[in-house]
Amino acid sequence: MKTSKISIKDVIKNYESILFDSYGVLFDGLKPIDGSIELINHLNKINYNYFILTNDASITDEERSKIFINQGLNISREKIISAGSLIFNLIKKENFFEKKCFVYGTKSIKNDLRNKGIKLLRNSEIEKAEIIIFSDVEKWPTIENLNKLLNFFYKKYSEKKFIKIILPNPDIIYPIGNEHFNFGAAAFIDMLEQAIFRIFGKNIQYKVIRLGKPYEMIFEIAKSRCKSNKIIMIGDQLETDILGANNVKIDSALVTTGINTTKKKITIDKTAKNLLPKFILESIRL
Ligand SMILES: [Mg+2]
Repeated sequence: MKTSKISIKDVIKNYESILFDSYGVLFDGLKPIDGSIELINHLNKINYNYFILTNDASITDEERSKIFINQGLNISREKIISAGSLIFNLIKKENFFEKKCFVYGTKSIKNDLRNKGIKLLRNSEIEKAEIIIFSDVEKWPTIENLNKLLNFFYKKYSEKKFIKIILPNPDIIYPIGNEHFNFGAAAFIDMLEQAIFRIFGKNIQYKVIRLGKPYEMIFEIAKSRCKSNKIIMIGDQLETDILGANNVKIDSALVTTGINTTKKKITIDKTAKNLLPKFILESIRL
């Protein structure tokens, strides 16, 4: 497969559904990216099938839609598929309803899960947890709490009680506007994972269930909601958007202009095969 250039007009003409990454493609974390408002208005006007695939798990899809709309991006809640919304899909799929569940995350994510019928442990009840969900970095990753969690996992695993860890957003960092980044929950979960492996060895029954891009679940849900198989993923990250699309055999286009979330110079010729986009999209301007 050779990577070639494509325009957004040809994307719309040649495909029947578009999956957009949010940060770095439509939105920079603070404001819409040039051309994105006009593009979304156009797609809405022609009733084009599109979805936003975001790894963010800090707010509900309804709240995200409100933020988009306030910024001029007229994206309804039904068009958003976030890693946060996959928590419920996973609990349903694995039939975890009866498990004792503890969530580190925002109030809105906790309320959303409660509204969907999932019973959550209170802050003081973490010792009882069978599942821990790390949906955001809200308050918990202090050095004291990380040490506490490490020793909590050590105690449980020594007793062969294996807690399931759910990480909706596998991104280590996320952008805040141009040229500024914050750590995501994954950075701290990766660290805890390394520590557990260091103590027990890698063969322990310890497993973090990662949900967002590049993992399959978010793409499979998106595919099931698209009207045809002529689907393309548009993203700015090879390791999440492009790899994930390639894994589920969806065509992909890498956005290279506007505000990119990486400073790495992308040399397509040297890119591993599974990270190779089908197209380069130099701009999302119509
Ligand atoms: Mg992105």
